[in-house]
Amino acid sequence: MAANGSGNGAVPAVNGRAYPLEDHTCDVVVVGAGGAGLRAVVGCSEAGLRTVCLTKVFPTRSHTVAAQGGISAALGNMGPDDWRWHMYDTVKGSDWLGDQDAIEYLCRNAPAAVYELEHWGVPFSRTEEGKIYQRPFGGMTTNYGQGIAQRTCAAADRTGHAMLHTLYGAALKHSAEFYVEYFVLDLIMDSEGACRGVVALNLDDGTLHRFRSQMTILATGGYGRAYYSCTGAHTQTGDGNAMVLRAGLPLQDMEFVQFHPTGIYGSGCLITEGSRGEGGYLVNSEGERFMERYAPSAKDLASRDVVSRAMTIEIREGRGVGKSKDHIFLHLDHLDPKILAERLPGISESAKIFAGVDVTKEPIPVLPTVHYNMGGIATNYHGEVLVKKDGNPDHVVPGLMALGEAACVSVHGANRLGSNSLIDLVVFGRAAALRCADVLEAGANQPTLAKDAGDFALARLDRFRNASGSTPTSELRTNMQRVMQNNCAVFRTGEVLSEGVKLIDEVLASAADVKVSDRSLIWNTDLVETLEFDNLIAQAVVTMNSAANRTESRGAHAREDFPDRDDKQWMKHTQAWLDPETRKVTIDYRPVHTYTMTNEISYIEPKARVY
Ligand SMILES: Cc1cc2nc3c(=O)[nH]c(=O)nc-3n(C[C@H](O)[C@H](O)[C@H](O)COP(=O)(O)OP(=O)(O)OC[C@H]3O[C@@H](n4cnc5c(N)ncnc54)[C@H](O)[C@@H]3O)c2cc1C
Repeated sequence: MAANGSGNGAVPAVNGRAYPLEDHTCDVVVVGAGGAGLRAVVGCSEAGLRTVCLTKVFPTRSHTVAAQGGISAALGNMGPDDWRWHMYDTVKGSDWLGDQDAIEYLCRNAPAAVYELEHWGVPFSRTEEGKIYQRPFGGMTTNYGQGIAQRTCAAADRTGHAMLHTLYGAALKHSAEFYVEYFVLDLIMDSEGACRGVVALNLDDGTLHRFRSQMTILATGGYGRAYYSCTGAHTQTGDGNAMVLRAGLPLQDMEFVQFHPTGIYGSGCLITEGSRGEGGYLVNSEGERFMERYAPSAKDLASRDVVSRAMTIEIREGRGVGKSKDHIFLHLDHLDPKILAERLPGISESAKIFAGVDVTKEPIPVLPTVHYNMGGIATNYHGEVLVKKDGNPDHVVPGLMALGEAACVSVHGANRLGSNSLIDLVVFGRAAALRCADVLEAGANQPTLAKDAGDFALARLDRFRNASGSTPTSELRTNMQRVMQNNCAVFRTGEVLSEGVKLIDEVLASAADVKVSDRSLIWNTDLVETLEFDNLIAQAVVTMNSAANRTESRGAHAREDFPDRDDKQWMKHTQAWLDPETRKVTIDYRPVHTYTMTNEISYIEPKARVY
């Protein structure tokens, strides 16, 4: 490894096999060890399939660990509830862009998925009678919008932490093989368009690996870091999404980026919606609880897109708080300190650290902050990747699945309801494993990989190792993040988006001049951050173009020049391709599924979305 593992000298070319590749074969390779990846790992290994899990960070450092408020399921522990009400809320929350067959699958299977987590050991908060505690969350209602539901199951405000540790424990009980701190570079696609596995770099010793598998499952999380201010970790770079683009496949509905109403002003750190579920409320500089004007019934518990827009309007109209009148206050100081200590200990600590605020005495300064990507890799509710091909809008790509925030199933449509992501991870993680158990035979023979399989990934690696331009990756990344934050935010117009397309193309073009200072393959953060930036900029470009193309307002995509939802023209999913050579975007559309999974519940017809 000496030639490749260290130093700043010239790097030898790929086709001379400068990189020795270690080959592995398994039935299923899961990329990602967050909630989605781990649930799939448990299911696949339980089914007797040889399962390998690759992850760039230690499993329990995956971003799921940061999830605070909870996981939704109509258990009815705190009052009457029904999965059909949960389905109605999710369809309405999605602004009718969600596929209703998938939403039915999610909500119908949610209670069993939560009980499974309970049995595996998730330490949920409890009611007096010992049942799982559930809190209200935005957009979650009873009886098809009539009342407020308490549907979000919580382990204090550290639900993701509890869930991820439990899932990792469950995965270790089975025979899954973990390759930790392996950075997956790219998919291996064959000439027929099937996925045959992945190529990965072991960050620890600089070795390169080819994993051949019958099924590859991408569970690589979101790409929040394409934006300047985001509630997610620096590892949220959507690597799987970018691999899919490089494989010549599209990403779906990328224009739908969720801004969470309550990121801490300045740091972007999240204050869970659960804080408003426990009785917190927002006020403007006039001390007014302004949400009463925007959402008379749900008020502070309206859907996230609605609350983020209301806050932005208040600030724009001069009613923001603080010296620059550029943020809003969240009050929790009227709540019983005992409740704050028991149910919201984590955010009390975050408010102290990141805003210097004692939540029992003062309001928290907050601002809408990028939080979640509704868009991603198009799949059906089995997790199989879909592409519109030869007139078939739902053609299944052989050998490839996607899950979690990387996927667009699409259950969240144009706007995700809070606590619907954690449930999506485990319901569809399980569904994908069930599908693998159905369609794969453990240990079945696999076609031999072509001699050059993986060279594509190595050539890309080589390009960056030899990148001796003059612009550091950090500068390119900041430029990209600023363009996304300025030109593709809560409110959009045609003019701002066209400018955004031009500016983000300029960042993409300027990336040809990238400078990577160290050629080492071992713990070279500059190289890894460059690979991640290259992934992010590809997603930023398709996001901006997808947003510029959609001339209506729906969910998180609010166009001031097209303020209404247009169901006649736009009941369709965007599919955006990025040509790996020319780096030009092509956009097409596939119809939303306007049918349910079973005939036990009928399609919920679109109507005005008021809270
Ligand atoms: C602060 C915060 C709080 C939240 N709170 C809630 C909540 O209360 N309820 C809720 O429903 N949702 C919540 N969400 C959203 C939810 O937590 C996420 O959408 C979800 O956890 C994503 O899980 P995942 O399994 O898809 O991906 P992640 O948990 O992000 O895991 C991604 C995995 O992919 C791996 N990976 C990525 N790229 C590579 C690569 N190139 N090579 C190898 N491995 C790779 C990583 O190592 C990691 O293991 C919250 C989000 C944030 C940011």
